[in-house]
Amino acid sequence: MTPESLLRQYYGHSSFRPGQKTIIDKLVGGGDALAVMPTGAGKSLCYQIPALMLPGVTIVISPLISLMKDQVSSLIQMGIPAAYINSSLTARQVQTAMQRACEGRYRIIYIAPERLENESLDTLVRHVPISLLAVDEAHCVSQWGQDFRPSYLKIREFIKKLPVRPAVGAFTATATGLVQEDIVKLLELDQPCRVITGFDRVNLYFDVVSPSDKLAYTLNFIQRRKNQSGIIYCGTRKTVENVCQALQQQGLPATRYHAGLDEAERHSNQDDFVFDRTPIMVATNAFGMGIDKSNVNYVLHYNMPKDLESYYQEAGRAGRDGEKADCILLFSQQDVALQKFFIAKIYENQTLSDEEKERLSALETRRLEAMVNYCVSEDCLRGQILRYFGEEYGDRCGNCGRCNATYRQEDITKLAHSFMACVAHIERNMPYGLGLMSIISIVTGKNSAEIQSRRLNDSIIFGAMRSASPEKLRSIAETLLNKGYLARSEGRYPTIHLTDEGRRNLVSNSRITRRAIEKKPSARARKRASYSAPNERLVQKLRDVRLQLAQKAHVPAFIIFSDAALKDIAVRRPMDVSEFLECTGVGERKAALYGRAFVGAVREFIESEKA
Ligand code: ADP
Ligand code: MG
Repeated sequence: MTPESLLRQYYGHSSFRPGQKTIIDKLVGGGDALAVMPTGAGKSLCYQIPALMLPGVTIVISPLISLMKDQVSSLIQMGIPAAYINSSLTARQVQTAMQRACEGRYRIIYIAPERLENESLDTLVRHVPISLLAVDEAHCVSQWGQDFRPSYLKIREFIKKLPVRPAVGAFTATATGLVQEDIVKLLELDQPCRVITGFDRVNLYFDVVSPSDKLAYTLNFIQRRKNQSGIIYCGTRKTVENVCQALQQQGLPATRYHAGLDEAERHSNQDDFVFDRTPIMVATNAFGMGIDKSNVNYVLHYNMPKDLESYYQEAGRAGRDGEKADCILLFSQQDVALQKFFIAKIYENQTLSDEEKERLSALETRRLEAMVNYCVSEDCLRGQILRYFGEEYGDRCGNCGRCNATYRQEDITKLAHSFMACVAHIERNMPYGLGLMSIISIVTGKNSAEIQSRRLNDSIIFGAMRSASPEKLRSIAETLLNKGYLARSEGRYPTIHLTDEGRRNLVSNSRITRRAIEKKPSARARKRASYSAPNERLVQKLRDVRLQLAQKAHVPAFIIFSDAALKDIAVRRPMDVSEFLECTGVGERKAALYGRAFVGAVREFIESEKA
């Protein structure tokens, strides 16, 4: 069997993606490999196909329990005998699995790193030759990485103990040069072939928007994506509660996740999401580690995260099946204030020395600035992300909100000058200064308790810009800060000041303009319509079939077929099982198991179209 024929037979894919074949060839030849490929690039295939070609068994080390279970279910669905051994199994279940493993019944066994020292593994090693060891999430071996796991250091001992050294493959989505070197050194990879395909997730569409009403925007966004699965990340638990409740009130199938919920509820909500019982998850950043749901169609950030590392990781949970997916960030100045508040809290941390506090705070502030820049800059969003991670990237990706936007020149002189005049007045009359939010509240005439208690509503600038919306003023202020007409003081409570340049501009009454984005929403819609679009009703029908089959087999729906597969079936409309096999993602075993059900549904649909 060649790798290509196995790819077709088991996975139902027609060709390899970049890098896959190189790794497979090297591992099948008994050599080592290091693969740094982004999430969704298809790393699993790179060790699963060699596992089918090599004698004996392949051991896969993986740290994520939920992910192991899904992978093994997927393999079994494809007709590849596999098992996993981790702490979610009872002692008895482990024993049974080991027994079967010793009988040589599995091609692939997933094992948690903590289990490597287990004696029963020694028995296995004596019975069945291990020809390949695949280390998933290999960056966990390095202390430089974010998810260092001491148990990964045991992998090396484990390899040494084996009677014959297997081929070793290390796989990760995130590894800087330093971490890559650590992986090679700590796993003792022997002249590994290196496939490093970069960070770009081409199927993700990025956009940043600043709607005046985030909740309304979100509801509308989701209403337009009926039947899709998505994650909405919020900055605080309270926002999670509010947004989730609002969605549920609209009858949308949403659930929630944050650290304030008890473990049982977190667990069951997560399951409801993974199994598509409630395909919308509203969560804080506590959600996501170890979740491997491949059919997430969008990740919407209700609030801006603290840095681009967090953003890319969270947004990256969309589109792991390789399907087009949307990553939208809803930006507002309050988000910046919230993050600054968190940074200020560093100074309350008793366990840090003063010097550490300063250093940490400066570091986080720099990261936050990069994050804010991403939100306000007019440059290609993908390019900004990739360059932040040290990759070179051209000017435009053509697949983000900035590349798709057109710009117009907006004259903001009038509002800008009024605002600057108000700031000047504050500087003259209130020597302690005011923060941006307070200034905006005052000039728009917001009569809050704080303003009343500080008697700011007595000021002549109170309500002076009543006709402008706070959002508009916030964006004007941000422009003025960027242009250097206003400045923000350092420190815990930053205040806003007019700079000399701003004063000159005001006095000379010079024009102030900025580039403003003109929405061109049809650009993407046009692009989408250019391929033969599947009939939505048919896709829905196929989805129902998938859900039924999934429930019967007790696996998440995406393990039966990805959304990409369903769409391809809807486009091709197979009339028999052999035509069914032509569809993307349909391998031989799945065709045999599910062909009749799906072909039946397609036929029914075609009949109903005729009627
Ligand atoms: P990773 O582990 O790199 O995040 P996975 O191995 O989970 O990615 O693969 C992501 C998705 O891409 C899976 O749905 C898989 O079936 C699909 N895929 C992988 N290789 C190919 C290929 N050559 N052609 C089409 N789809 C592929
Ligand atoms: Mg993977």
